[in-house]
Amino acid sequence: MKDLSLMTWKEIKELDKEKSIAFIVMAPIEEHGWCLPLATDLIEGENWSRGAMAELEKKNSVECCYLPSFPVAAASVNEFYGSIHFSMKTTFEVAYEVLESVRFMGFKHIVVIASHADPDHQIAIIKAVRKINRKHGICTIAPMGAIFMGAGVEPSDEIKKLEAEHENDFHAGWVETSSLLDIDESFVRDGYKDLPDSDISDKDMIFKKKQLAAMGEYGHMGMPRFASKETGRQLNQNCIESICEAVINFYKRTDYKKYDDYFLYKILPLHIGFLKVFGKVRRVKA
Ligand SMILES: [Zn+2]
Repeated sequence: MKDLSLMTWKEIKELDKEKSIAFIVMAPIEEHGWCLPLATDLIEGENWSRGAMAELEKKNSVECCYLPSFPVAAASVNEFYGSIHFSMKTTFEVAYEVLESVRFMGFKHIVVIASHADPDHQIAIIKAVRKINRKHGICTIAPMGAIFMGAGVEPSDEIKKLEAEHENDFHAGWVETSSLLDIDESFVRDGYKDLPDSDISDKDMIFKKKQLAAMGEYGHMGMPRFASKETGRQLNQNCIESICEAVINFYKRTDYKKYDDYFLYKILPLHIGFLKVFGKVRRVKA
């Protein structure tokens, strides 16, 4: 796999674009509770992309390349200390302009890894992807929204059991803490086993006030104490396999629609953040 930013323009121009797949990670610098770093979503997106690129190159005659990650993302709750969020409109525009630049370089298979599950972010990215595809013909996909909604490869029984026992783990809980423990234990601060469980249901996740109340003085929404390195290995592996399936199917332009279909995109009120009055990032002074 190649880092496009370390190549010369001439080298990039000479790449066989029919066989090249370009990866772009877009995720926020955002608070992740007391025990995970601000770059958690970027670290996850980079780990999953690298894993997928290695696997894709091993099993197919393709060449994968990537850009440095773009720490640009939209989020529905901005008020917690430590987050650098952008509006849905800005996120859409950055994604659109990055994609158009990469398309103009000649790439025909461009994958956006939006490793931040917030619908505000997914919708902004998918809107950019759709606009590019309408303008230039199908050339890009952002599969994470569908993967976060369960469209990917089926997880192991162990993960399914954990998901059933400790549901409502949305942010910096056992899922993300496990993922980072697997990527590099030094990213995770001691004490995650002592953090209290937060109390919020999936239905309450649409209410920002309820989210902030559940975050309390900590910032997580979930149960970090159930995290483990082994769980993280399985979660990351599942994500990598799902991305591989999405990307290779997209590359062949067969059977990739389920990864292109983000259920929440169809819910129009979720697009309200594109309007200037509703879409302002609410920053709070410390
Ligand atoms: Zn996260």
